[in-house]
Amino acid sequence: MNRPAGFGTRAIHAGQTPDPTTGAIMTPVYLTSTYVQEAPGVLKGYDYSRTTNPTRVALEQNLAALEGGKHGLCFSSGMSAINTVLALLASGDHVVAGNDLYGGTYRLCTTMYRKFGVEFTFVDMSDLDAVRAALRPSTKLVMTESPSNPLLRLTDLSAVAELARAHGALSMCDNTFATPYLQSPLAHGIDIVIHSTTKYLGGHSDVVGGALIVDDESLRARLAHFQNSIGGTPGPLDCFLVLRGTKTLHVRMDRHAETAVRLARELEAHPRVSRVYYPGLPSHPQHALATRQMRNGGGMVSFELDASVADAKRVTASFGVFALAESLGGVESLVDHPASMTHASIPREERIAAGFQDGLIRLSVGIEDADDLSADLHRAIAVLDRA
Ligand SMILES: *Cc1c(COP(=O)(O)O)cnc(C)c1O
Repeated sequence: MNRPAGFGTRAIHAGQTPDPTTGAIMTPVYLTSTYVQEAPGVLKGYDYSRTTNPTRVALEQNLAALEGGKHGLCFSSGMSAINTVLALLASGDHVVAGNDLYGGTYRLCTTMYRKFGVEFTFVDMSDLDAVRAALRPSTKLVMTESPSNPLLRLTDLSAVAELARAHGALSMCDNTFATPYLQSPLAHGIDIVIHSTTKYLGGHSDVVGGALIVDDESLRARLAHFQNSIGGTPGPLDCFLVLRGTKTLHVRMDRHAETAVRLARELEAHPRVSRVYYPGLPSHPQHALATRQMRNGGGMVSFELDASVADAKRVTASFGVFALAESLGGVESLVDHPASMTHASIPREERIAAGFQDGLIRLSVGIEDADDLSADLHRAIAVLDRA
């Protein structure tokens, strides 16, 4: 090919060649812990499956190709991937991180790395002055998530990458919500992309996994050292499932977004809804940035009902097609009441100060028929009309 392959072609083929011994078109699931050596120390490229495994290598190359990066590293969970990045730090180092990070990331920073003497400042990543003001001589890492959860705030990735680089710090972007189909952090100068492959990349709610993608070889080597030392690596069957998921990522993401924008518009017009958060709507305060940085608005929609916690819970329990569950990014639609589910550990005053009320509801819009999802959403909100 004399031009770079398009996203869908890479999704289906990158990292995967027919098995040389049988011609099997699908990458084999190499269920092996060790590899026979031809002579002591003479390997065919593999020595032990924590260190590397052919099914994992196929997935690592596939994800690197999708993110437009040189190197991929896979993990047993998104948290394990993030932990491996934080393992680069030493006592006395400082990190600037988003104040609306995924709860598990926040917990890892504050209950584990803080104990080891790493310092953290949490700021609103959409406020570049706040990011700049938080940087210290000891800042080694800037961590962001875009769009963030549950309010779908965006980070200007080029600007944050530039601030970090000028300061001599690494930048990391959690690209789980956007996926590489919508957004390419490396192209904006971000050093490390992380994914929970549990979400859109796997796409079928049947596997937990994580990944890192980087361009720089010495950074890859440092991360691979801790990947192998910590040992949070995925099994080959999990890698196979994620590889099967990425083949349809582009098709799924287009459908997720097409239905999400329809539901977001319907919610905006709904008298019971006081606010809708969706980067693909012109009413989103960072819609211009979304247009610049993302292919479309993605599959996550949050909205505020003018309702108490009890009423919001009543609405979320009334869906029939949307399942009441945490997590996101699967083919099936999910509904979440952050105040009592995903974000229940945040005290109420802090949650309200962070900008979300008791009536906030988060949807992971799946790829069922849009008419069915729309009817389900309207039917659920209508329970508010019954006292
Ligand atoms: C789910 C999630 C994680 C954690 O990933 P696991 O695979 O559950 O360990 C990290 N970041 C974001 C944005 C997530 O949604």
